[in-house]
Amino acid sequence: ETIGIASGDGKALKMDMTPQSTARLEVRGLKRNFGGLDVVRDVSLSLQAGQVTGLLGPSGCGKSTTLRIIAGVDHQTEGEVWIDGQMVAGPGVFVPPEKRHIGLMFQDFALFPHLSVGDNVAFGLSGTRTEKRQRVYTLLDKVGLGKFVDKFPHELSGGEQQRVALARALAPKPSIMLMDEPFSGLDNRLRDGIRDEALSILKEEGAAVLLVTHEPEEAMRMADEIALMRAGQIVQHGAPYNLYNAPVDLQAAAFFSDVN
Ligand code: ADP
Ligand code: MG
Repeated sequence: ETIGIASGDGKALKMDMTPQSTARLEVRGLKRNFGGLDVVRDVSLSLQAGQVTGLLGPSGCGKSTTLRIIAGVDHQTEGEVWIDGQMVAGPGVFVPPEKRHIGLMFQDFALFPHLSVGDNVAFGLSGTRTEKRQRVYTLLDKVGLGKFVDKFPHELSGGEQQRVALARALAPKPSIMLMDEPFSGLDNRLRDGIRDEALSILKEEGAAVLLVTHEPEEAMRMADEIALMRAGQIVQHGAPYNLYNAPVDLQAAAFFSDVN
């Protein structure tokens, strides 16, 4: 949308008046319809750098669909997605996933089995060989796996593989990290340690993080803000302790009641 403005010398200036976003990620009025059913309806979110937003809700409420549209692997029915002030999905606009500056981490988003740990982390990197090497070692050191650079995925435990996946996702310095239940495949004993470790690395790297989870405890532990989702809509949004102490309704209260 442009408007013309008359300047002093009589020439018309054209100014772009499209509303710009200062957020790393902004989702506006997102809707996704599958076969006549709105599985996502009117979801809006705004994420800043260095902030973890938990998208929390029971299974089937539309979390992964929301994340997939943000990632560019699914199309919205309505609404817009903006990344770093640029519309990447909207009416007539579609920027492909690889051009969205996004890091992805899923529960079952496997490492490349035929590549070493180091090559897995280097996979999406550009730059000179030395620069890539440096970035790979920096990240593997951060996740405590510096010595594993020449190993192959099958030689690693599940927890170690997820740490490599985190390093791989962060290597190209994404603006946004999208994490869909990234730790649910791990056993309880390992999970807390990896969550804390991942959180400190994510904070250091400064990406805006969208953490999808159905576990209130995980959202409480990791998120700066929680968006509570139910049946395709965000029903409450705020600081974790606000949702815990002042749930919007009985259903939300019940959902948080297991957290201790
Ligand atoms: P969540 O991640 O919160 O568990 P999803 O976003 O995966 O929820 O799914 C929300 C709803 O949308 C579910 O009822 C699911 O069956 C439905 N759904 C997801 N993807 C598709 C699809 N490709 N086609 C039809 N229905 C889908
Ligand atoms: Mg899901």
